[in-house]
Amino acid sequence: MTAPRVLIMGPPGAGKGTQSRTIAEAYDIEHVTTGDALRSNKQMDISDLDMEYDTPGEYMDAGELVPDEVVNAIVEKALADADGFILDGYPRNPEQADELDGMTDLDVVLSLEVGRDELIARLTGRRVDPETGENYHVEFNMPEDSEVRERLVQREDDRREAVENRLDVFEANTEPVIERYREHDGFVEIDGEQAPADVWQTIQDELDERLG
Ligand code: AMP
Repeated sequence: MTAPRVLIMGPPGAGKGTQSRTIAEAYDIEHVTTGDALRSNKQMDISDLDMEYDTPGEYMDAGELVPDEVVNAIVEKALADADGFILDGYPRNPEQADELDGMTDLDVVLSLEVGRDELIARLTGRRVDPETGENYHVEFNMPEDSEVRERLVQREDDRREAVENRLDVFEANTEPVIERYREHDGFVEIDGEQAPADVWQTIQDELDERLG
C-alpha cells in the first residue's frame, strides 16, 4: 500500500487539529497544517503582495483568510516533502482547491460536521498553554496543575468577534469546497459532535476500511 493521502475538512473548532495529530501518529504520515505553519510565520513580510495587510498575523488575528499565494506555497512545499499526509486547514476556498487538484490526488476526504452554536462555545472557551501548545477549555477541560492554569492564554482569533468572523468566512468560502468534495470517491462525513475519543474511533474505522 502506498502511504495514505488524507484531507480533513470542517469548520474552525470542529476538532481537525486534535484528530489530525492522532491520525498522523497512528498511520505514520505527515501532519500538514496551514494554521500552525502560519502561526509560526505570523510576522513574515508579505508587503510585496500589496494587499490589505503586510503580515499573515494581521489577517489571522482578524479571522480573515491569509492570501492564497502565501498559503499555496506553504502547502506545495510541505506536500512535495511528504510521503503520505493528513492535510488540515487547506483548501479553504475554491481557488485553493483548484491548486490542490494540481498538486496531488487524495485517497480519503474526511468532513467533520459540527453545528454553529457548539463551535462558538468550543472556540470562545478554548485556552492554550503557551509553553506546550496544548489546548484546554474553561468549562470542559482545565489542567490540574495550578501553574499551568495560570499561564493559559486565549488565542487572539478565539475572541468572540473573530470567531463569528471565522465562521462566516468558513460558510462563505469553505462550505462550497466541501460540497465539491462530496462527489469524491473517498468522501466521508463524520459526526464531530461526539466525544473526541468516539470521533477518533469513527475516523479510524473509516480509514481502515477505505485504505485497505
Ligand atoms: P486554523 O488554525 O486552521 O483555524 O487557522 C488559523 C488562521 O490561519 C485562519 O483563521 C486564517 O487566518 C489562517 N489560515 C489557515 N489556513 C489557511 C488557508 N488555507 N487559507 C487562508 N488562511 C488560512
